[in-house]
Amino acid sequence: MRDISLLHPEIEEKCCKLIELCKQNGIEIIITQMLRTKKEQTDLYAEGRTKPGRKVTNARYPYSPHCWGVAFDIAVKVDGKVNWNRIDLYKKVGALGKSLGLFWDGDFKSFVDYPHFEDPKYVVGKSVKTLIRNWKTPDAFIQHYRSAKKEEEKKMPDQWKLNIIKQAKEKGIITDDHNPDDKATKWFVLDVEKMQGIQKELEAKQELARLAVQFVQQFYRDFEGPQKYEQAAQWLATEAGKHGLCISEEEIKVLIEASLKRLKAEFGEQWEDVVKVQE
Ligand SMILES: [Zn+2]
Repeated sequence: MRDISLLHPEIEEKCCKLIELCKQNGIEIIITQMLRTKKEQTDLYAEGRTKPGRKVTNARYPYSPHCWGVAFDIAVKVDGKVNWNRIDLYKKVGALGKSLGLFWDGDFKSFVDYPHFEDPKYVVGKSVKTLIRNWKTPDAFIQHYRSAKKEEEKKMPDQWKLNIIKQAKEKGIITDDHNPDDKATKWFVLDVEKMQGIQKELEAKQELARLAVQFVQQFYRDFEGPQKYEQAAQWLATEAGKHGLCISEEEIKVLIEASLKRLKAEFGEQWEDVVKVQE
């Protein structure tokens, strides 16, 4: 079936990203094989066996990862035409695919399969043993990820295109020639948004750590170093909680040490005695 959206959502995302990444590197690819139905795999297996032609697959249904929606095959186009001979280009696409966390069958010593990519989370080297053990049949697995996909789509508000894309354009994250209906664009923008969210959260924590150190200096001036640290750590944990920020012991320690260092750099050695963090 020639519809990328029938793939498992994780591999669909990587597939779209690979097309985009190849484009950025001046290589045009098309997706030639995606999810295969039982009939499609059975017909393919018959080729070169009970049907004329050469053998194209060693896997009967359901032993190909294509039957499970966790693999796809690509073809490189050169001057607008599919080209199977430019191994150099297939190798470049292979490297790009691997950079996205895909498993590429072009690395095999024997049964090299340059066009084939799969999701190493579910299948390695075309073996679907784990999937069969966990799900028994492709139908069960596909049904499971399809309903998860529907849930995910429901969560995505219709407004996202208008809002996020508009913001992304204003910020210069994407340009006008990005198609907002293109899933790769959506994922790209969401990735950037997520990174910015993480950055904002870190800045908020840093600000709180700075306040924590100042607070302790003001109210617990006479305490010993370790006690001061305890007070600052407690204050920071409480305030972070109030702001809905998740913060670990380790993070608290690093943040307080860092803000202390920064305050010292800014205000000089009068901060020396504020907090002595125990190693
Ligand atoms: Zn394949």
